[in-house]
Amino acid sequence: MPTVQVRLKEARTSGYPVHIEPGLIHRAGKLLRKQFAGCNVFIISNPLVFGLWGRALEASLKGGGFSRPLWHLVKDGERHKSFKEYQKILAALAAWDRGLAAKPLVLLLGGGVLGDLGGFAAATYKRGIPFVQIPTTLLSMVDSSVGGKLGIDFDTPAGRVKNLVGCFAQPEAVLADPQCLATLHPRQLRSGLAELVKTAVLFDAPLFAKLEKNPARLLQADPAFLTPLIAAGVAHKASVVARDEFDRKGLRILLNLGHTFGHAVEAASGFRILHGEAVAFGMACAGDLASSEGLLTRRGEADRARLTVLLEALGFKLRLKGLALPAVLAALGHDKKFEGGARFVLPRALGHCVTHSMKKLAPAQAVLSARLR
Ligand code: NAD
Ligand code: MG
Repeated sequence: MPTVQVRLKEARTSGYPVHIEPGLIHRAGKLLRKQFAGCNVFIISNPLVFGLWGRALEASLKGGGFSRPLWHLVKDGERHKSFKEYQKILAALAAWDRGLAAKPLVLLLGGGVLGDLGGFAAATYKRGIPFVQIPTTLLSMVDSSVGGKLGIDFDTPAGRVKNLVGCFAQPEAVLADPQCLATLHPRQLRSGLAELVKTAVLFDAPLFAKLEKNPARLLQADPAFLTPLIAAGVAHKASVVARDEFDRKGLRILLNLGHTFGHAVEAASGFRILHGEAVAFGMACAGDLASSEGLLTRRGEADRARLTVLLEALGFKLRLKGLALPAVLAALGHDKKFEGGARFVLPRALGHCVTHSMKKLAPAQAVLSARLR
């Protein structure tokens, strides 16, 4: 089974394994027994994922000798990555924890919304109890379950702000079962593929070549085919996290390739456009801006065309109609990375990206407007 070790220097643990293996959910109990035998298990999930994979996980825990877990289900959707649901989880944890002699263990079964929210609750309850991420979307496997960023969206007087409240806390382990992707909505699978393409553009031209070889196959949710690709994505994320655990050294900012433009269209669409769809669009914009800023190498210009071909083959729309241009341009200006000047992550060629500071926003706005017509 591919296992990526996340190595840490600053956290209270020296690191944790990310296991990626088809059918892993059925073996989770045995795997967890080694480290957590005798623990009381509290599982956070949502009704959809619980219905699809809850029984398999519960049977596997039973096989691993765990006593019956307590399930806490959160309503599905980003809307519920909220303070209200966070409070409800804490209340349920407190009620469950009362008088239990055994050590607690929290399992997070679901996508990125669930992992961020439930992980934040586990990391802050009694200043932190152990938790394990069991990501069930492609995005959460390659991105959100690794790296220890947790949190919720929060209502401010100016409206709801994504990921405004949260913390860093690393899981004890991540168990990713690519078989779980079989039940994922194709649009969600594709959305996750955008983050994988992003990783390849950032760090790994050979990975990009693998992705472009058979885009149709990527969309089939074939676990054996996806497993090594997910492992490659996780390895890159783990490497960045190991070097910049708390996002203080400016390395993790690279992971925002395509996100500055992406966030702008995502927000302006009222989140009708999925995150990965927005990131795919954003990467196309980043390519345009890199070109107009003269950053692309000679090979980079050809690479930019390859990126377009791959993203279109995956079904991403790289020109978007029907969004209000002023709203998108305003959203671009609001992006937090613009405080004290505009900073973009831009490609020079496949596998080589840089942060690029710009005094003015106009060139970026020009690139964006051109793709919104
Ligand atoms: P999500 O968690 O909303 O999942 C998408 C949909 O798929 C949901 O309806 C979910 O119930 C459903 N689903 C999950 N697993 C399924 C399965 N196996 N079969 C069928 N349906 C399934 O969305 P996401 O894309 O996984 O995560 C997005 C969230 O991740 C955002 O809140 C974002 O802020 C966060 N995120 C966090 C980090 C981080 O570092 N912590 C990084 C990237 C994104
Ligand atoms: Mg992202």
